Amino acid sequence: MADQRPTNIVWHDGEITGDDRAKVLGHRGCTLWLTGLSGSGKSTIGVALENALIGRGVLAYRLDGDNVRHGLNANLGFSADDREENIRRVGEVAKLFTDAGVITISSFISPYQRDRDRVRKIHEDAGLIFLEVFIDTPIEVCESRDPKGLYKKARAGEIKGFTGIDDPYEQPANPEVHLKTDQSTVEKSAQDLIDALIEYSVLRGE
Ligand code: ADP
Repeated sequence: MADQRPTNIVWHDGEITGDDRAKVLGHRGCTLWLTGLSGSGKSTIGVALENALIGRGVLAYRLDGDNVRHGLNANLGFSADDREENIRRVGEVAKLFTDAGVITISSFISPYQRDRDRVRKIHEDAGLIFLEVFIDTPIEVCESRDPKGLYKKARAGEIKGFTGIDDPYEQPANPEVHLKTDQSTVEKSAQDLIDALIEYSVLRGE
């Protein structure tokens, strides 16, 4: 991609603050960044959480790896550079949604700590809440679930650079939430995330 950085662009502030939006919605925005191996349960837990939040009248929206690769990131593959750009873009989108007051549930393998830390930084620099959620599932369990048949293909050499097989996954050093899906149910994980949203003052407890 040609580097065509624009010049002469100046940020134009609006007059509405995050507090104004929170008054409209009844809650603040927040990015829940679900990271973990393929098949660990990010999408499944994300869907359950989105259902639970919308059921409580909380505006939630999922950003999901494969879905985003159909559109915004359709031109990116799985090389280290493309994975980095993938996460940079979705990190910026998550930040915009969170600034708009939405509980943003991002489900991306996002295997590199450096990329996740960058997303955290752009949120924190903007005064926005970012919670890193480690969906911690042993690779043997992910492989036995293999919901999309991808481990089978990776083991057969049909997919190269598959995270956990022949590409690294860096476990979060200090995630705000740590979910072990081999010891819990989908519903309990979704509830743990709602509890975290209350703990971090995104939502009010009932
Ligand atoms: P990812 O989005 O991380 O690639 P998916 O959510 O697509 O993972 O797949 C996880 C699979 O594991 C699903 O088939 C889901 O039904 C299954 N599963 C079994 N137990 C759990 C659990 N406790 N939490 C999350 N997923 C689970």
